[in-house]
Amino acid sequence: MIIALGTIGIGLAFRSLLLQEAQAGIRVTSDDIARVAEASNALGYYDPATVLDTLANKEQLDHWAPPNEYVQIDTIAGYPIGKSSDMGDLRIPPFHPAAGETERISMFRDTDGTPLLVLDRVLAQKGKPLVVAHVAVRLDIIDREVGRAQTILMAAALVACLAVIVVSIFIARNATDPIVRLTTAMETIGSEQLDRRLRWHRNDELGKLAATFDAMLDRLQAAFARERQFISDASHELKTPLTVINANAQLIRRWGDRDPVVKAESLDAIVTESSRLAEMVGGMLVLAKADAGDRIPKEPLALAGIIADVVAHASERAAAKGVAVRAELPPEGAVIVGDAPLIRQLVSNLVDNAIKFTEAGEVVAALERVDGMARISVRDTGVGIEPDAADRLFDRFFRADASHSRAIEGTGLGLAIVRSIARVHGGAVSARARPDGGSIFTVDLPLLALDEGSSPDFNDRPLPQDVES
Ligand code: ADP
Repeated sequence: MIIALGTIGIGLAFRSLLLQEAQAGIRVTSDDIARVAEASNALGYYDPATVLDTLANKEQLDHWAPPNEYVQIDTIAGYPIGKSSDMGDLRIPPFHPAAGETERISMFRDTDGTPLLVLDRVLAQKGKPLVVAHVAVRLDIIDREVGRAQTILMAAALVACLAVIVVSIFIARNATDPIVRLTTAMETIGSEQLDRRLRWHRNDELGKLAATFDAMLDRLQAAFARERQFISDASHELKTPLTVINANAQLIRRWGDRDPVVKAESLDAIVTESSRLAEMVGGMLVLAKADAGDRIPKEPLALAGIIADVVAHASERAAAKGVAVRAELPPEGAVIVGDAPLIRQLVSNLVDNAIKFTEAGEVVAALERVDGMARISVRDTGVGIEPDAADRLFDRFFRADASHSRAIEGTGLGLAIVRSIARVHGGAVSARARPDGGSIFTVDLPLLALDEGSSPDFNDRPLPQDVES
């Protein structure tokens, strides 16, 4: 439709251009005739009859009428005195000018219907009208030209349109094909095929998307593996106390009425194992809470108060073992943003461990400020840490060297909880043996920056990236 309208518009413009040219052409011929009429005058042929002879001369008229043009000379009364030979029987109607009118452009149809553009002009001699010169041009040729041009234009526009459609389809295919392939590849990688990767090596945006997807799969696979490991470790750890409880319950059922000693021992075992079970489940709940990350409510916390409190609570237990426990706190203290129960649990786990693995000597819980971080360190004079175990101490359910660990009660979750809590607060943990015996556990947590005080809602803060444990 647009193409058709455009073609018609261009055709009309082209036609009006050709008409102007045709008009200019017949005017040039008419001017030539007028010039001859005047030249006759200039040479002194004052006799109008001589001039009329010249103007009516057929050869002369044929010379003025190029192909497609007709020339006809009429007397002022409208009687034709000469016609170019190409006119045949055709007669251009006479021109009777109105007062003051010397020429007229008009359209006229030939006997066979051919349209003609006619310039009628009165040629005067010494101001006296002498003859009327009609110069006409056939317009059917113009119409034919315009028609041909319109057909060519229409065909060219259609071809261009087809080319645009084909190229658009090609470009669209080229653009969407990789997306379709990428989507299909992504769909085939479900949670069961997390080891598969796209491995698209392209230097464009799709290549970046595929690489990002692969990197996400790496992280997901690692997270899934950790979860699987955790479930397997947890099941294993929960199974032991449950088995002990079950065995002792059966003992009581079979011998309990007859043997009070068996009954008492079995009940003791059930109490011990069930409290270990409760402790383990409690630890797993804290881990889940710490792993929840951004859902933890956070507020400014003064660490010195929390550490002093934990130490005060632990001192009685430590004293019973003959271990001294004290806090080393800087007068200026240190404020962080965090969840008070979780931070208390973190300090408490470290202090409890230190007391648990120390037979004599002292446990010191210290606080200092180091490079914009609050550093909590708990050092003891206990069994120390084997160099090859130091890296794994913070793994869930890991307990170093069975020879001493199994003798000491524990779940293997305490330090994993410490690391999770530290990470969710944007901090980091480390452990090392002290050169003169014992060990030191360190936790660095970001200090509350004073210029951040303008934001009253601490829960809006983005979490550090590596919060997964
Ligand atoms: P649990 O204490 O319940 O066994 P933890 O995760 O708290 O579990 O500790 C993991 C292991 O790290 C312990 O079994 C112990 O081998 C080692 N450990 C923890 N704290 C200390 C410490 N203060 N001194 C020496 N070893 C420690």
